Amino acid sequence: MPQLVELVLLPSERHNEELLRQKAARQAGIRPDQVSHLEVLKSSLDARARQPVFRVRAEVYAQGEVFSPAPALLDGFREVDGRRIVLIVGAGPAGYFAALELLERGIKPVVIDRGKDVRTRRRDLRAIQQYGAVNPHSNYCFGEGGAGTYSDGKLYTRSVKRGDVYKTLKLLVEHGSKADILTEAHPHIGSNKLPGVVQNIRETILHYGGEVHFGHCVTDLIIHKGKLIGLVAEKPDAAPGNATVEFRGDAVILATGHSARDIYHLLHKRGIGIELKPFALGVRVEHPQALIDEIQYKSKRRDEDLPAASYSLVCQVAGRGVFSFCMCPGGLIVPAATAPGEIVVNGMSMSRRDSPFANSGVVSAVEAEDLKPWAKHGVFAALEFQSEVERRLFGAGDGSQKGPALRLPDFIRGRMSTDLPGSSYIPGLYPAPLYDLLPDFIYRRLRDGLTEFGKLMRGYHTNEANVVATESRTSAPARIPRDAETLMHPEMPGLFPCGEGAGYAGGIISAAMDGQKVALAVERMLLANA
Ligand SMILES: Cc1cc2nc3c(=O)[nH]c(=O)nc-3n(C[C@H](O)[C@H](O)[C@H](O)COP(=O)(O)OP(=O)(O)OC[C@H]3O[C@@H](n4cnc5c(N)ncnc54)[C@H](O)[C@@H]3O)c2cc1C
Repeated sequence: MPQLVELVLLPSERHNEELLRQKAARQAGIRPDQVSHLEVLKSSLDARARQPVFRVRAEVYAQGEVFSPAPALLDGFREVDGRRIVLIVGAGPAGYFAALELLERGIKPVVIDRGKDVRTRRRDLRAIQQYGAVNPHSNYCFGEGGAGTYSDGKLYTRSVKRGDVYKTLKLLVEHGSKADILTEAHPHIGSNKLPGVVQNIRETILHYGGEVHFGHCVTDLIIHKGKLIGLVAEKPDAAPGNATVEFRGDAVILATGHSARDIYHLLHKRGIGIELKPFALGVRVEHPQALIDEIQYKSKRRDEDLPAASYSLVCQVAGRGVFSFCMCPGGLIVPAATAPGEIVVNGMSMSRRDSPFANSGVVSAVEAEDLKPWAKHGVFAALEFQSEVERRLFGAGDGSQKGPALRLPDFIRGRMSTDLPGSSYIPGLYPAPLYDLLPDFIYRRLRDGLTEFGKLMRGYHTNEANVVATESRTSAPARIPRDAETLMHPEMPGLFPCGEGAGYAGGIISAAMDGQKVALAVERMLLANA
């Protein structure tokens, strides 16, 4: 039996394999040369004390004890025969992991995405960054890999069973991600590595007989005798007369993400119920990374073996949560609008997290109670509120994607900044009266929440921090209901709402796991109907 050991390592010792082996052997009561294998199970950074340490849990195998690695999940995949076809709308984490799960079960996935493949998509991201030109089908939210591709690539989730998380992470590793995401307490991939992983997943789908169609925006549903049997898609880049395509399948997994407003409208138009969903809205706050490091590591200079420091802050203001969201240490603020005429920001980072800036969303929960003035929009109240704020912030600018911003102390005091500190945001920032531009109830909550954050984290309030609007795509502003057992829409047989856009996930890993769960439900339905 391998022995379980708990090691405490200085940052400089964490990646010293020999030292790790010696310390593990000593704790296991054997000599280092008697260790046949050391299997790290978990590694987490503990920066609570003045000297940060890594806590590593590992299994020590002595000579004669055999370590057998888990078999590759891809070994279990076989080519599908195409007798059962499932249409998947959306090539984000939910759609792609649903496709992998279906392949594993011998069912053919046909993935349809409005955006471009992960490499070609980069050109459209450059156009947003450099010229403020937003392609409504290919941007930071839409395109292969979904919203999670050009992101921070944080891979943790609080929401689900460990076994499923492991499977999701292992599939990412089998598609090119570093193996340490299986053991790190806060795994992270980074935007320079994610596209390769996403492309490899697509190649797996194609290799085992699935299909992937880019540049196809689903615009209608084909319903026959009360059951969903297919989809209509428009090809925005196609020549006239060749722009509409129909797809038929045994079921449809709808995994279109939190920004596919047209899909909510389509369902509503076709009489398929959707519901209003609370979400959160606010700003993105950007500090110099060195300052966050200094606060969190309690030291003037970050040890070179420590990662860029992050933070997680939360407080209650007037009965609503104000919280930091999607923190990107060593990252960049990016323009995440999905249509012209909107200002939306979000955060991304590279695998090394080595930019000189630390940014994080700081948002307030928006509940149905807050949306009374938008009640005339019914189930679209949250969506209309979100869209109105994004358009108002755009209207305050010069028609580009420049970000309206204030220095943090000026934001709190409700006064204009004469100038702004440096920022990672490529389109640039300009001083704008966010205290007037944001809805009053949001501004007041953020102001009080940020005041509180300054007490929770000394040094957080600095003139060197920018507050940038709008952090509005935190989660879906509507829910697409599904039956708790079948995971099918209660009013539309054959329709399986899935992932973040349907309201069942928030983040890359939870969306991927929801994709897997929905694929299993589809298989159950197909077996029952066989
Ligand atoms: C900049 C940024 C950074 C982020 N950073 C992180 C992070 O570090 N960690 C984390 O866990 N989460 C992060 N997120 C959130 C995460 O990306 C999402 O939670 C996750 O991608 C949701 O997955 P999904 O598959 O449900 O939807 P999405 O990833 O949104 O995918 C939906 C897909 O559907 C397609 N689509 C939409 N409408 C149609 C249509 N009509 N027809 C055809 N296709 C359509 C879109 O093109 C898109 O590819 C970030 C998001 C952004 C925008």
